[in-house]
Amino acid sequence: MHDDDVAAMIITPGADLQYIAGYDAKPLERLTALVIPHSGSPALIAPALEAGEARESTFARSGGEVITWSETDDPFLIVADLVSDSVSGAIAVDDHMWAQRVVRLRQVLPERPQVLAGSIINALRQKKTPREIELLQEAAAAIESVHRLVPTIVRSGMTESEVAHHIGAAIIDAGHTGVDFVIVASGPNGANPHHSVSERVIGIGDPIVIDIGGTMPSGYRSDCTRTYVVGEPAAEYSAAFEVLLNAQQSSVAFVSDERTCESVDAHARALMHGHHLDGRPLDDYFIHRIGHGIGLESHEEPYLVDGNTDVLQPGMAFSIEPGFYVPGRFGARIEDIVVCTKEGVRNLNTLSRDLIRIPA
Ligand code: ZN
Ligand code: ZN
Ligand code: ZN
Repeated sequence: MHDDDVAAMIITPGADLQYIAGYDAKPLERLTALVIPHSGSPALIAPALEAGEARESTFARSGGEVITWSETDDPFLIVADLVSDSVSGAIAVDDHMWAQRVVRLRQVLPERPQVLAGSIINALRQKKTPREIELLQEAAAAIESVHRLVPTIVRSGMTESEVAHHIGAAIIDAGHTGVDFVIVASGPNGANPHHSVSERVIGIGDPIVIDIGGTMPSGYRSDCTRTYVVGEPAAEYSAAFEVLLNAQQSSVAFVSDERTCESVDAHARALMHGHHLDGRPLDDYFIHRIGHGIGLESHEEPYLVDGNTDVLQPGMAFSIEPGFYVPGRFGARIEDIVVCTKEGVRNLNTLSRDLIRIPA
């Protein structure tokens, strides 16, 4: 905060508040906000009817002050008052703060420039502690147990949405408190990386990209993709998949604290470039970045994408998920969650990355 000339950070419900204050507050219309002044003590502002929950937060239980406001008070004036005692400088608002609140803060603190708190908080959040890595490991194990059930769930003749319904239930049974996403992309739908589900009936010979994730009781997220095939895949599909598998595993091994984010992405593309499909190099069909950070959010920093020259640091946890997407035909993706360590890479996944056969 000192380096960025920030007089106060204002953090509303979301992953930042959970990270800093241990408070998984509901995103309600009444203002809840942690105010962290550069000088002075932080305070958690909460509506009176949420006071009980706010006092259960890690912040409050370790002695942090909770200031409650009742139905006819203006909580933004309380925030302004707390900030007015701090040094000169900007106020940093959390990256996901509602526009309504950003504008209200501008009205009550007209002299204060506004900046994003993400530039301060993300540097902390992206480097996981050993405890956070344990929690991500638990999440990875939970979602893998769901993937292990997939061959018993999927049958040709089922629709993608029927399959997704059973997978959603299995995600909860595996210990998650919420389902974040279920992608069941069969046949030509596999060519759309963020296809959700449809009423398409799964047929014999179809490849199926299944990308699933949820939220654990700890708040930490799971995210894992495996590609399945009903019966026997077409020969050209298997050949391309082998190249993808090699690129994925080689990119995982390539991770180290001496590499940049973009170099991992480039590594996979270079390995896919030599293989051709329909007259084009396979990496032409790899249309998204290779990975994203994961923690209290499914997608967070660091982003492993061309142009990101940041160097990986020990403690960073992120996906390695190359794929290929051939419009009108099929797609494939393999996704693991890995951690950069001083000794190299740690893969939180143990499940086979092979094309998984489902009996026809
Ligand atoms: Zn200072
Ligand atoms: Zn995913
Ligand atoms: Zn992912």
